[in-house]
Amino acid sequence: MPAPSGKKHRRLAAIAWAINGLAILVLLVVAALYFSRPPGEAVAIAPRLSMPTPRPTLTAMPLLIKGSPRPTLTPVPTSYYLPSVTPNAAATLVEDYSTPTPFIFADGPDPGVIGYSVQDRPINFFSFGQGENHYLVIAGIHGGYESNTVALANQLLVYLNSHPNAVPSDDTLYIIPDMNPDGVARGRNADARVNANGVDLNRNFPTPNWVPDWDHSRCWNERPTTGGVAAGSEPETRAVMQFIYTHRLKALISYHSAALGIFPGGEPWQPASEQLATMLNKATGYPYPPVDIGCTYTGTLADWAVENGVGAAVDMELANHQDTDFAANLRALQILLNFQGN
Ligand SMILES: [Zn+2]
Repeated sequence: MPAPSGKKHRRLAAIAWAINGLAILVLLVVAALYFSRPPGEAVAIAPRLSMPTPRPTLTAMPLLIKGSPRPTLTPVPTSYYLPSVTPNAAATLVEDYSTPTPFIFADGPDPGVIGYSVQDRPINFFSFGQGENHYLVIAGIHGGYESNTVALANQLLVYLNSHPNAVPSDDTLYIIPDMNPDGVARGRNADARVNANGVDLNRNFPTPNWVPDWDHSRCWNERPTTGGVAAGSEPETRAVMQFIYTHRLKALISYHSAALGIFPGGEPWQPASEQLATMLNKATGYPYPPVDIGCTYTGTLADWAVENGVGAAVDMELANHQDTDFAANLRALQILLNFQGN
C-alpha cells in the first residue's frame, strides 16, 4: 500500500487539527465560565448575606447511632448540597427526593432520648462536658425543609467529639440534632417542614400568643400548616418542653434556614435574648435585627423557652437551604458557651 502523501493530505490534516483545537478551546471557556459562577444565595425574601467565611467544602458524613437502630427508622438525611440548579435556593427550595446519606457517629457518645415523634422515631440528644452552666443547641424543628440545620448539628457533634476542650469546664452543652425526625425522613422539600400531623412545631409551643391558625399570606405559605389542635399538642413539642423543664438552661439556639437572621425569644423580645442575638450577629454575619417580612410568629420555641426559665433563646437562620456555614456556627457555639446573660 502506498503511504498517503501529498500537500492535499497534509492540508486536510492541518484543518482537522485546527477544528479539534477550536473545540477544546470552546470547552475550556465553557468550563471556566461554569466553575467561576458565584454560589446561589437568597435574594427574593432576604438580602444577600456576606458571610465572613468561604463556603465549606464538606464531604457527607454518615450517621449511625451506636447500637442497633430500630428497624423501622429511616436514616437521617444529611446530604449537604443540592445540585446548584437554582440561583435562589434560600427563597425557593429545590425539591430533592434523593436518597439521604446516613450520618455515622460511631465513636461518639451514646444518644439520650428525650421522647418520640408522632411516627415513633426517637428524638435524640447528646451531652458534652459536665459543668454547671447548661446550654442547648437544637436543630431540625422544621424537618427536611431545613435539613441543613440537622447537617450542621451533626457536624458539631463530630467536631465536639474530637475537640473535647471546645466545651469549657464549667459548661455542659446539649445538642438535639433533629427535633422533627418524621419531617426529616420525608426528604428535603416543602412537604417535610411540618410533623406527621401537619403541624408547624415552631408554632405549637404553649406561649400566651399561641394560635391554631394565622395570616399565612405574610408568612411561609408554600403548604398549608397549623399550630396544632391545641398548644403543646404534639409529642415532639412536649418532649422538648420536658427536656427544657428538667435542664436549667442558661441559653439556647434553635436553628432554622434560611436567611432571615436571628430572632430573639420573648414577646416583646427579652433583653438577654437580644444581647445574645447581637453577639451572634457579630460572630456570624446573620442579620440582626432579623428581616421583617410582616409575618407574626406565634407559639415559637424561643418565646416559650424564655417564658419558662431559659436565660436567653434565639431562633437563628442559616444563610440558605444548602450550606451549614460551619465555620460561622463554630464561632456562634463559642458565643453561646460563654454567654452569661443577666
Ligand atoms: Zn424554620
